[in-house]
Amino acid sequence: MPTLTNPSEIAREALRLLANRRMSPSPENYRALYHEIAGTPADLGAGFPERELKGLLASLPKETGVQQRLLKRLEQAFKGTNWDQLKAGIAELFAQLSREQGLPWSELFGDFLRQWESKQAGLTQARKREALERVLAGGAGNSELLFGRLQGLVKSWSLNAPGGDDVPLVDVRPEAAAAGPGVVAAEAGAAANAVATSALSTELREIFAYTLEVVLPTQIADEPELTADAKALAHKIRTATSRSAVEGLEAGVKRFAFRLELLAEDRAELRAGLLSLLQLLIENVGELVVDDRWLSGQIEIVRGIVSGPLSIRSIGDAESRLKEVIFKQAQIKHSLSEARESLKQMLAGFVDHLAEFADSTSEYHDKIAICADRISDAEDISQLEDVLAEVIRETRIIQLNAQRSRDELRAAKQSVEEAEKRIGELQAELDKASTLVRHDQLTGVLNRRGLEEAFAKETARAQRRQSTLCVALLDIDNFKKLNDSLGHAAGDAALIHLTTVIRETMRPQDTVARFGGEEFIILLPDTPLEDAQTALVRLQRELTRRIFLHDNTRQLITFSAGLTELRADDSQAAVSKRADDAMFAAKQAGKNRVVIG
Ligand code: GH3
Ligand code: MG
Ligand code: MG
Repeated sequence: MPTLTNPSEIAREALRLLANRRMSPSPENYRALYHEIAGTPADLGAGFPERELKGLLASLPKETGVQQRLLKRLEQAFKGTNWDQLKAGIAELFAQLSREQGLPWSELFGDFLRQWESKQAGLTQARKREALERVLAGGAGNSELLFGRLQGLVKSWSLNAPGGDDVPLVDVRPEAAAAGPGVVAAEAGAAANAVATSALSTELREIFAYTLEVVLPTQIADEPELTADAKALAHKIRTATSRSAVEGLEAGVKRFAFRLELLAEDRAELRAGLLSLLQLLIENVGELVVDDRWLSGQIEIVRGIVSGPLSIRSIGDAESRLKEVIFKQAQIKHSLSEARESLKQMLAGFVDHLAEFADSTSEYHDKIAICADRISDAEDISQLEDVLAEVIRETRIIQLNAQRSRDELRAAKQSVEEAEKRIGELQAELDKASTLVRHDQLTGVLNRRGLEEAFAKETARAQRRQSTLCVALLDIDNFKKLNDSLGHAAGDAALIHLTTVIRETMRPQDTVARFGGEEFIILLPDTPLEDAQTALVRLQRELTRRIFLHDNTRQLITFSAGLTELRADDSQAAVSKRADDAMFAAKQAGKNRVVIG
């Protein structure tokens, strides 16, 4: 057929062909024939209702997440501007929807519920919930992906059944689960890792190994086994090159991560335990008012625990011990005040009886004197009879009174003795309990017992860190004179003043303890001898600046100090003796100075 160029001829020919081919006379058919005759490329876009389709999509509801996701997929399917693309898109959408319809969700939910309700080694309900939430978030909007991930999760839970030697881990990484339904997450993980091995750059390996070898141990310093494992794993990371070594590495990392998670859970429990312990202490502080020594004792126990190596067990022990002490203390306090009260009442009763007795005897004497007068005045025997009867009556009354008073006094004496005994017992109990105390009652600094513990702790630390520990012994100069001239109370106030200045001038890590009457020991950790000397001279200056005031008169307090450094294998006695000798030398040299020993 010759190619026609005249539009009206082409139109006529198109109409003829429509009839010949018995095609329906639709505009589309006419347009197609027209282009065929004219030899022009078929304008496929023309007539494609793109605008209408977009309008259609725009009119669809998009309130819910499901509707929005469906709309998005329809938009994908309607992408393109011709019928062929639309056809392909819709066909794909249909295939996808029917594939999803075919996913065995009910079976998966059955498995899921079984695993959700059963226990798995090392998996708490909270962790399972967290893993589930991650899967749900990752698979949102794609049910096929969601199905695969959920299935992977359920499978990994089932592998974590209790009693297994080697506890597998939950693997919910997208790459593991994305491998599709039916693929065990762990297998997918291994495959993905094998692929990733070659891509794992040396730099990345190094960062990972560094984290395990250097960063992590700072967080788990109190877990030597875990720290050693982290270091071994770091070594493997640097050296694993073969496929099998990488697979072994993956298992090792998983196991390690699992143990880290357990440790984190333990630590959270530990924190909660500590918190309730502190709360218990604070709640009961109000109860501890009989004697301040009690209060310091309680706080010291907790302080001791907090500074020692912590474990859930030791905190639990401390808590129950503290509860017992608090309970016992409250009881003692109550009984002690009761015993004191009854003693007071008995003494008051005793005094009343004495007064009564004295009253009645003087009344008796008065009456007898009257009777005697009446006897001497009596003129006949009958008058005497009456007087005698009265004398006998009064004598009987006084006899009865005397007997009653004697009985009552005896009973009172017995009660007083019992009460005294009880008070003695309670006091002894209280004293025994206060052996827990590690602080000096007057000044609040450590006492000898507290110093012993602090010394042990500081020397151990100094040896561990290979650092210097300095020990200073201070003795107030001419303290006896101050005591004698101003009184003991002023001496006490001066001791308190000195310790306040020491505590506020020295560093927080320095330990201050009362060694004896007006002698104090200061432990200076991590301090070279020279620096310790400078610190003590600074303290002397501070004491002259912050002068002690007594009755508005200024009293200069000075001290002489012996300073020494802890040597290898020094006992507390040996180092104290050296400091004491140096202090004595300072006194000999004229007081108010620091001598190094
Ligand atoms: P030196 O300069 O040689 O140290 O003379 P000193 O007077 O300070 O030394 P001495 O050891 O002779 O006297 C210490 C005095 O400290 C004896 C004692 O009365 C007093 N003292 C000890 N403990 C206390 C206390 O708790 N309170 C009071 N107020 N005085 C105390
Ligand atoms: Mg002294
Ligand atoms: Mg002195």
